[in-house]
Amino acid sequence: MTVANVPKQKQFVFDFVERNAKAVATLGDSIFYFAELGMQERESAALMTDILEEHGFAVERGVCGFPTGFCATFGSGEPVIALHTEYDANPDNSQASGAAERTEITARGPGHCEGHNCNAAVMIAGALAAKRAMEEFGLPGTLKVIGAPGEEQLISRPYYVRDGLFDDVDVAIHDHIGGEFHTVYGLTHMAAVSAYFTFLGESAHASTSPWKARDALDAVMLMDMGMAQFREHMEPTMRAQRVVKQGGDQPNVIPSRAMVWWTFRAPTAEGAGTLFEQGKRIAQGAAMMTNTEVEVEVMSAVWPVRTNQGMAEVIQRNIELVGVPEWTADEDAFARRLQEQAGTKPQGLRRDVTPLTGPTQQRAPSNDCGDVSWAVPMGRVSFPANIPGVAYHHWCAGAALATSIAHKGSVAGAKALAGSVVDLLADPALVRRAKETFAEELDGVTYRPLLPPDQKPPVALNREMMEAFRPQMREHYVREKPVFA
Ligand SMILES: [Zn+2]
Repeated sequence: MTVANVPKQKQFVFDFVERNAKAVATLGDSIFYFAELGMQERESAALMTDILEEHGFAVERGVCGFPTGFCATFGSGEPVIALHTEYDANPDNSQASGAAERTEITARGPGHCEGHNCNAAVMIAGALAAKRAMEEFGLPGTLKVIGAPGEEQLISRPYYVRDGLFDDVDVAIHDHIGGEFHTVYGLTHMAAVSAYFTFLGESAHASTSPWKARDALDAVMLMDMGMAQFREHMEPTMRAQRVVKQGGDQPNVIPSRAMVWWTFRAPTAEGAGTLFEQGKRIAQGAAMMTNTEVEVEVMSAVWPVRTNQGMAEVIQRNIELVGVPEWTADEDAFARRLQEQAGTKPQGLRRDVTPLTGPTQQRAPSNDCGDVSWAVPMGRVSFPANIPGVAYHHWCAGAALATSIAHKGSVAGAKALAGSVVDLLADPALVRRAKETFAEELDGVTYRPLLPPDQKPPVALNREMMEAFRPQMREHYVREKPVFA
């Protein structure tokens, strides 16, 4: 395939996505209303895998022990390009789309207040467009479309990498919603270790015989105090956060079991591992002080995310070719109202693509695709389907996710994704450049999973919460099926 043919192939994928704009919107909206918590994304995964299968992908469901994970393959031979993304919602994030004030769809229920519903729509539409182009123009190579459950708990992709799902992959692209249309390269996110600390003691009547008890909740509180003291001595870039998952049932029964869930973050995998070791020592101290025992279970452990320069160059060219959607005055006014509500500058929607500059600055969030980004050269398409400047996991970040802003931004994202895939398939030099820049970026660092080798996926995570809300949420499901043609 000659380089001169590239524009034609690219026009072909752009036309495919444009023609299917309604299906992109319906798919994104469907997943918005499913609003499934991590590891419980049954409806979302079923919808996506059915579409991929209908369109000729070989679909493996339940990949690497993840019931809501999947890997769909099309084509054969090299290069092998993996597209991967997440589709999970968050607890207590139910927010009506199109409402510029706090309006729950389901009281206290799960919801999308970041936009992983759009991530999924972009990945599927981009994959379908690229697959059609492979057929139409006889492009050689393999497309792997990978669905990654439980991003918000940092779960599936370190398991996927550990278990070999990316072993045959040459380059990978992750797509994620944002307020800008851009890509970056360099270290972007932090490493994290996420672990349950379960303290086990002995219960007793809290009033008549407290001296007979060994109080597991005391241990949780003492671990918290130990971590609070230790914060003074953590490196300033480190983070440690926790929620108490179990703290007893009623005041007159001293809890024999209590559980706290901690996430330890640092700019490097080594740093996150060191902080986790300190957390374990503090937990042991708390157990000794309370005559309890502590069990530690790692839920997940991820490397920091780094995106590759060669991949960023390919993606940026496509982003610039697609350009930011034409926003209407109403869409811009809606964005300004939300920005005011969120207490950020009322700047409206972005009119221009953000240029690609030098290596980006590493920031405090983490993403479970970190391990992928150390195993293969990885790029990211950040597409403009949410409101600029609005903080995620806050209701303001959910209010646009099934509106025309999300729909138009997702169409733009899918075009840039498909265009990048077509470029990489058509020009082996681009894959080579990605690999060369990747080797330089690794700078001798050897990737070793932080995830314990025998750790099993926590398949029951969020199950009870999701099942409690699902019947009420079902009333709001989108009845129409997304049809790509
Ligand atoms: Zn995200």
